[in-house]
Amino acid sequence: IKIEKLKKIFRTEEIETSALNNVNIHINKGEFVAIMGPSGCGKSTLLNVIGLLDNPTEGKYLFDGEEVGQLKERNRTKLRKGNIGFVFQSFNLIDELNVFENVELPLIYLKYKAKERKEMVEEVLHRMKIGHRRKHFPQQLSGGQQQRVAIARAVIANPKLILADEPTGNLDSKNGQEVMKLLTELNREGTTIVMVTHSMRDADYAHRVVNLFDGQVITEEMKKEIGDIA
Ligand code: ADP
Ligand code: ADP
Repeated sequence: IKIEKLKKIFRTEEIETSALNNVNIHINKGEFVAIMGPSGCGKSTLLNVIGLLDNPTEGKYLFDGEEVGQLKERNRTKLRKGNIGFVFQSFNLIDELNVFENVELPLIYLKYKAKERKEMVEEVLHRMKIGHRRKHFPQQLSGGQQQRVAIARAVIANPKLILADEPTGNLDSKNGQEVMKLLTELNREGTTIVMVTHSMRDADYAHRVVNLFDGQVITEEMKKEIGDIA
């Protein structure tokens, strides 16, 4: 990821909000980056731009060597599916679908055959230690279990990049640490991770911490090199 001189301005009828103001960030393949900063400093906006959910107003965004900053919605969606997995604070599972079906969904969009889908879903559910709950619905699961299902869904199509927006924000410390360990394991296997967090403890799992303030990067802190054992 190469982001240069990036600006994002939200315009409503009277108010103009500069959410990101001249942001430069380079993220290497295989890196685990934490983004921190006070509420309203632009973290979610940045994650939305990185995740191709929203375009920047100005500036450059290279994703895997391709300029993607001004792509049309259709092409952004196409690039997103299969390349980027999302994990949210509030899990964002579909209540009407059971665990298996929630995790299977991205594979249906990507047109995998039923037999392949079943194998892939079973494998990732086992890995996330939630296989015994495959027939349960999200409301029947604890927060930690729901987040493990959400991570399973995020990684089912082997994305290059995982974007996590306060993934432990609704979890107790035990479940939070379990989620961080799963993310770290995925990162060790080569998946790039960008995570927004308020937790210093979570940020300790990252290679690098980027601190935002008023829409700008104010400091960056190296925690460890890629390949270091935590
Ligand atoms: P954070 O995630 O760090 O709390 P956000 O990225 O959500 O910050 O917001 C950054 C700034 O942009 C805030 O001032 C917020 O009010 C504003 N903002 C975010 N989204 C919108 C939007 N869709 N329309 C108008 N203003 C927005
Ligand atoms: P609950 O008691 O809330 O129903 P679970 O049964 O999902 O929670 O899991 C309790 C603990 O056991 C969790 O920490 C989870 O990691 C672990 N666990 C659940 N299933 C497995 C499994 N198949 N292999 C290893 N650990 C598991």
